[in-house]
Amino acid sequence: MRNTVYDAAIVPCPDYEAEHVRAALTEALDAIGGLDWVKAGMKVGIKPNLAAAKTPEFAVCTHPVMVAELTKMLIERGAQVTIGESPGGIYTAAALNHSYSATGMTLAAEAGAKLNDDFSSKEGHFADAKVLKSFHYTGWLDDVDVLITFAKLKTHGMMGMTGALKNLYGTIPGTVKLEYHYRFPNHEDFSNMLVDIYEYNHPVLALIDAVTAMDGNGPTAGRPRECGALIAAHTAYDADLVGARLIGVEPMDVPTIAAAIERGLSRDSLDKVSLYGDADRFIIKDCELTPRHDITSVKNTRGVTRAFMKMVMASKPAAVKSECIGCGLCAKLCPAKAITMKNKLPSIDRKKCIRCFCCQEFCPKGAMKVKRTAIARLLNK
Ligand code: SF4
Ligand code: SF4
Repeated sequence: MRNTVYDAAIVPCPDYEAEHVRAALTEALDAIGGLDWVKAGMKVGIKPNLAAAKTPEFAVCTHPVMVAELTKMLIERGAQVTIGESPGGIYTAAALNHSYSATGMTLAAEAGAKLNDDFSSKEGHFADAKVLKSFHYTGWLDDVDVLITFAKLKTHGMMGMTGALKNLYGTIPGTVKLEYHYRFPNHEDFSNMLVDIYEYNHPVLALIDAVTAMDGNGPTAGRPRECGALIAAHTAYDADLVGARLIGVEPMDVPTIAAAIERGLSRDSLDKVSLYGDADRFIIKDCELTPRHDITSVKNTRGVTRAFMKMVMASKPAAVKSECIGCGLCAKLCPAKAITMKNKLPSIDRKKCIRCFCCQEFCPKGAMKVKRTAIARLLNK
C-alpha cells in the first residue's frame, strides 16, 4: 500500500496487449488508492465510449482489451460487472448487439461482464442541476451500485474534446440525446447539461484510454494518434484536465471543463491536481484540433460584438461531396431538421442549424466536416 494517494495518474501503456494493459491499469489505480472500495457482490457498471460501431483500429471507442482487463480486476474482487452504453441513433437490442460485436466488447463478456440488455428508459429528476432538472436516462443504471466512466481521448466537433465527463452523455437514451441537443443549442448550456449528467451519476472512477487517441475530424472520423497513455482519476474533472493537456488545449477552451470550473466543481489548472506520472511526456505532437475552438475566442465578448463575432467565427458542418455516399443518415438524425437531401447530397439550412455537429459525429463515412469560416482561418493562421 503506497503512502501517497494521488488525485489522478497518467501511466505508460505502449499498446493493447492484455499484459501491458493490466500492468498500466494496476499502476494507475494503485496510484489513486487502488480498488479496495470494490466489495464482494457489488454491482459495478462500466460506461465505455462506443460512439460508433467501429472496430478498434479506428480509435473511436474505448479499446475492448482495456474494458476486458478492468472487468477481470473487478471480478477478481467479487464484483458483478455490467457494460452499458447508448450511442447516437436508436437504442435497441439489435443496434447495441451490432455495436458490442463491432467494437469488440464481446471480449469483456468473455472476461465475465454482462453486456447490458435492458434498453428501458427511466425518468430522472435532479434538484441540484443547473439546467437539466428533469430528463430521461438509460434504465440499466438503476441496476448498478457504482459506475465507472471509461472514455477514449478524442477531439470533438462540438465540444473540442471528449473525455471522461462527456462520455456520460451515453447514459441518455439514443434519440433522446438528439432532443437535448435541440433543447440546449447553446454550447454553454449544453456543457452545463453534461456537467449535470455527470453530477447526477457521480461515477466512482474516471478512466481514459489514451493509448491510441484521436485528433482531426473527431469523435468518429478523425485520425488515430499514438499517445501511449492511460489516465485514471477519482473524478472526470481531473481526468479531463490531463486529457486536455495531452491534446494541447487550455482547460477554459474545453466547454465542459470551463462549465465545471465556473461552477466550482473542477480545478482550473492541471497544476493544481496531484498527479502521478508526467503528462507532458505524452503530449500528442502537432495534434490537429477540431475547429470548434474558434467559438471560444468570442467567449469574453458581449452583446452585438459577441453576436457578430459568433457569426463570423463559428464553424459550420459541411459535407464533402467526393466522400458522401448519400445515405441520408445526417438528415435523419439532425435534431433541428436543418438537413434535406438534394440529389443525394445533404443541403443544410443555416438558419435552422444549431451547430450541434451530430451530423458530423454520426456520418458513417466521415464526409461531414467541421468547416471554419474564412475569417477564422485568417485570424488563426
Ligand atoms: S451521413 Fe455522411 S455520407 Fe450520409 S448523406 Fe450525410 S454526409 Fe453523406
Ligand atoms: S445540420 Fe448538423 S450541426 Fe446543424 S443542427 Fe443539424 S445535425 Fe446539428
